[in-house]
Amino acid sequence: MTFVSDLEPKELWLHFDKILTIPRGSKNEKAMADYVLEVADKHGLKSKQDAASNIVVSKPGTAGNESKPTTILQSHLDMVNEKNTDVEHDFTKDPIKPRQEQGYLYATGTTLGSDNGIGVAAALSIMASNSIEHGPMEFLFTVDEETGLTGASNLGSDMLQGKQLINMDTEEEGSLYVGCAGGAGLNLKLPLNYISTPADSKALGIKLQGLRGGHSGVDIHLQRGNAVKLLARALNAAYKNSKFHLTGLTGGNMHNAIPREAFATVIVSSAEKDAFTQSLHDQIKALQAEFKPAEPDMNLAISDENSPHKIFDEATTQKVLNLLNALPHGVISMSYDIPDLVETSSNLATVKIDNGEMVIHVSNRSSVDSAMAGIQERVTSIGLISGAKVEEVEGYPGWKPDLDSHVLKISKEVHQDVLGKEPAIKAVHAGLECGIIGEKYPGMDMVSLGPQIEFPHSPDERIRIESVEDFYKLLTGILQRLAKDD
Ligand SMILES: [Zn+2]
Repeated sequence: MTFVSDLEPKELWLHFDKILTIPRGSKNEKAMADYVLEVADKHGLKSKQDAASNIVVSKPGTAGNESKPTTILQSHLDMVNEKNTDVEHDFTKDPIKPRQEQGYLYATGTTLGSDNGIGVAAALSIMASNSIEHGPMEFLFTVDEETGLTGASNLGSDMLQGKQLINMDTEEEGSLYVGCAGGAGLNLKLPLNYISTPADSKALGIKLQGLRGGHSGVDIHLQRGNAVKLLARALNAAYKNSKFHLTGLTGGNMHNAIPREAFATVIVSSAEKDAFTQSLHDQIKALQAEFKPAEPDMNLAISDENSPHKIFDEATTQKVLNLLNALPHGVISMSYDIPDLVETSSNLATVKIDNGEMVIHVSNRSSVDSAMAGIQERVTSIGLISGAKVEEVEGYPGWKPDLDSHVLKISKEVHQDVLGKEPAIKAVHAGLECGIIGEKYPGMDMVSLGPQIEFPHSPDERIRIESVEDFYKLLTGILQRLAKDD
C-alpha cells in the first residue's frame, strides 16, 4: 500500500492503490478481471463474463429502491503501457510507482493507468459500499478498449438489462460528454508498374521527419502537418521542374496516428540531380514556413543511395504523386450542434509497398453516419479515378448527441447542485465504447464523465487529485437522483 490509499475519497483510492499493482496492458487483463470478480464475490454480488472476457456485476437497489430502473456503470479494465526509454519497468509484473506533485498524481516514467483505472476503482467502491443510495446496478467492465475497442465490439448480447448507462472514460472535469465519433477506413491499393533503372541515373533517399504527429481523433483540429501529404506535395511540385522516377514512398505506422515521418526513394538523371535537389529543398522550405507554428521541427534530409534495379515507370510515378496529393487530410467539417466539435475528419494514416502494390490506408471519423458515408465515398472516388482498388476496413459506430437525454438532464442538475456549477456539454472526435454499446443495445440512454486526466497514454499522464473527489460526488449524486426518479 502507498500514500494513494490515504487520499480522499478513501474507499475509491484504496482500490486504485491496489489496481496500481496489477498488470493490465490491453489484451492482458486477466489479473485485473480476477480482482473485480474477487471484490464482487466478497460482497456477495452476482457476476458474469462473456466470451470476450467482459464482466458484468449486478447489485440490487438499496432499501426502497429495488424496483427502480437499472443503471449501468461502465469502465474499461485495460491501460496503455508506455514508458520513457530510460526507465526500467516490466509492465507484466512491476507495480506502477505513484508520485504526487502539486496536486497531481503521476506514475514514475510510465503511464499511470488512471485512464481508466479511476473509473474501475469508482465502480468497485460503489459495488462494495453499503452507504451509497442507488437503484439496481449493473457494473460493466470491458476489456481491450485501448487497441481498438474490441471488448465492447464483442460484448455479449445478453449481458445487460439496464437502459441507462454512465460511462466513466472521459477525462475532463466540469464537462459531460454526450457523443463521440465513429471510425471507418479504406485501403487503396494502387498497382505499381516497374521498368529497369536507366544507366547514368542517381538514386536519392529522401526523409521528411520531425513532425509532431498526434492522435488522429483528438489532435486533428490542431492542423499539424501530415508527413506523407507534405512529402507528396513537395515532390509533386518538384516534379514540374525536374522529372524523376519514384521507387518507393512510405510513411506512417498506425491507423489512429497522424504520420510524423515519410520516406521516398527517387531516381533522377545525373544531369538533373542538382536541380531536383534544389527544387525539393525550396519546396520544403516553403512548407516549413507555412507550417512553422504547428511544426517547428520539420526537417528534410536527402542522401545518395545505391541505385535499385527497377523503378516505377513514368505513369506510376505520376499516379502515386497525384493520388497522395489529392487525398484529403484533416478536418472535413465542424458540428452544427456542438461548438468547436470536429464532426468529420480524414487521416491519410499509412503508406507502404506490398507485393507490387502501394497500399494507402485512410482513416475517417465522424459523429454523423451520413457524413461518414460521404467521406468514405469521396476517398473511394479519388482512389478509383487513380486506378486503385478500394477496400473498406471494418469500422465502429459513432454516438450521435441526444440533447434530450434523461440521464443527461439528471446529470446536469446534480452537477449544478453538488458541484455548484453548470457543466459544459461536449462530444469527442474520437471513439468511445458508448458508440458500440449504443449500437448493440439500441435505445440506451448514455452520458460520459470523469475526473481531470491529462496526457493519457504517455508517461506524462497525470490526474488532478481533487477532481477525483468531485467526480465521485457527482457520480454517486447522479445514482442517488436516478434512484429517486420515477
Ligand atoms: Zn480510456
